[in-house]
Amino acid sequence: MTGHDGQMAPLLPHPVTGELFGSPVPPGSGWPGDPAVVETPVARAPAQVRRLAAGVGLDELEARVSVCAACPRLVAWREGVARDKRASFAAEPYWGRPIPGWGAPDPRVLVVGLAPAANGGNRTGRIFTGDRSGDWLFASLHRVGLATHATSTDAADGQRLVDTRMVATVRCAPPLNKPTTQERDTCAPWLDAELRQVIGSLRVVVALGSFGWAAALGAFARIGFELPRPRPKFGHGASATLVGAEHPITLLGCYHPSQQNTFTGKLTEPMLDEVLGRAAAAARIPR
Ligand code: SF4
Repeated sequence: MTGHDGQMAPLLPHPVTGELFGSPVPPGSGWPGDPAVVETPVARAPAQVRRLAAGVGLDELEARVSVCAACPRLVAWREGVARDKRASFAAEPYWGRPIPGWGAPDPRVLVVGLAPAANGGNRTGRIFTGDRSGDWLFASLHRVGLATHATSTDAADGQRLVDTRMVATVRCAPPLNKPTTQERDTCAPWLDAELRQVIGSLRVVVALGSFGWAAALGAFARIGFELPRPRPKFGHGASATLVGAEHPITLLGCYHPSQQNTFTGKLTEPMLDEVLGRAAAAARIPR
């Protein structure tokens, strides 16, 4: 693994386990929660994403997502951030790979975000872990009973989601948190495949922000759900019922817990708790 200057990235200790890792982290090298092994197949083009996302179980899907390299701009960005590091994390290894879905394999609730944060998920290797948005989200999930701990700091912290799973629409950290339309479309087969895997147990989807809302609607349409017409509009607290072959799914809109929204008071803790509380209530319906 070499940097811009052709030098090997230094091995640094994981902040919890103390094991040494390069940045980005090689697949199957012992990072907590790494779903991949050295042999996990790597998608290097959109057609390969479509092929590798099809016909595998959830564990293998997570593994394949975590080594995907189909978007050249995002691969360069995520790995560059991993090598260069924010000054406050200079002594830590960075995951620097795509972030797979995480949580219950048979969730009642699915939280759909935008993309990993450059110094959050892209550093810790787990979605919404190690950044301010995640702090807000996990604290609220804990208050409503969907997470076992109020904080999510790293992939070895013992955090566990209850009947809940989280996914990013685009699995790699993008520059300025803005994936291109082409990158969103290239990544979509991973989301569709994950949705198919969990649809049997799923009852509620919480879409964080308008990007997550549109991505969730698109994914449900692609896997055969009927969407209301006209297409429901995103808003905080908005809801829509999506009708599928087996059972309906409730889609809930929630402002993204980005610093821009939380600093300005556009999203408050009670507002977040209200939407996630509705999701939790639906999740408690007996199976
Ligand atoms: S954004 Fe998605 S498709 Fe693109 S490289 Fe990352 S995981 Fe692969």
